[in-house]
Amino acid sequence: MKVLVTDRYPTETLAPLASINAKVTRAKDLQPTAEELDGAEALLIRSRTKVGTKLLSKAKDLKVIITATSGFDHIDLKACQEKNIQVSYAPNANAQSAAEHTLFLMLGALKNISNIERTKAQGEWKDKLSAGNELHGKTVGIIGMGRVGRALANLLTPFKTKTIAYDPYVSGDMIREFHADKTDMTGLLKEADIITLHVPLTKETNNMIANNTLQEVSSDAIIINASRGPVVNEADLLQALDSNNLRGAALDVFIHEPLKEDSPIRTHQKVYWTPHIGAMTEEALTKASQEAVEKLVHFTQSNHLDDSLPGDLPWHK
Ligand code: NAD
Repeated sequence: MKVLVTDRYPTETLAPLASINAKVTRAKDLQPTAEELDGAEALLIRSRTKVGTKLLSKAKDLKVIITATSGFDHIDLKACQEKNIQVSYAPNANAQSAAEHTLFLMLGALKNISNIERTKAQGEWKDKLSAGNELHGKTVGIIGMGRVGRALANLLTPFKTKTIAYDPYVSGDMIREFHADKTDMTGLLKEADIITLHVPLTKETNNMIANNTLQEVSSDAIIINASRGPVVNEADLLQALDSNNLRGAALDVFIHEPLKEDSPIRTHQKVYWTPHIGAMTEEALTKASQEAVEKLVHFTQSNHLDDSLPGDLPWHK
């Protein structure tokens, strides 16, 4: 079996593929060429490889695609189904890293880290900096109480935050297990000092934070997005920041990635941003690659694909 790998898979995590006599090839780029796809029966990817009709038209022999990520909005599942290509993902591997990165963004935003970095780059000391804030005792609103949302709620407990969560697909009892209280979207937007997004990108969550929802948010609040870029309307967010209707934002994901050279987000005083590195730790890269490779080995041996998509995820319509 020819297995084509795009993006980062640590070499040692590919070793189990020898047990199924796989011929492993690495694509030169994130979007593989027709030549590279020729004869490939399995494709191992991450979120930067977009799977749509364009890629699939070049993939005549493909049987299975596995993405080493928890999000799968970069894959056109319908188009795969039409071609009888099975798809799976690695839902468990990245949550801790993504939650830790979110905590880092949260603490950074509370300390106005973008201003600190700017001040340092200008060779200045702290004289012009305003004081930051503690996370201790703040109200944190988590939108999306899945794997990342729950891992984050756990990380917040030593800070004695009041944690509230909005997720129509998760019960209040389950949310309480993570020391958080279930609320509705409006309640969360109104009450939270820090609003943090951990939803998949779907029709429902696309543009979830935009003018209409930003109107409900306190002008002292901070918004964090480490989910998917289009969940936040960037133009509306910047407008809210510029008109002092929002204190700050910290973003790891963007509508266009890589973030455009001339994007105002790059230099905005009230935005701290990172280049989509929520899952970019050695641990998460290794765990996610291992999870994807294990699934491929099992699929080849048993013809059963674990966590096959779309599955029965209630929010995936
Ligand atoms: P998950 O599937 O475990 O959880 C998603 C949660 O969102 C579920 O509980 C679901 O019920 C909830 N949800 C769905 N639609 C909703 C809606 N309309 N309103 C409120 N809640 C809704 O996924 P996860 O592992 O927690 O990851 C969440 C998302 O974060 C992923 O889909 C991925 O896109 C993103 N992510 C980003 C990075 C990064 O590098 N920045 C890393 C990991 C995950």
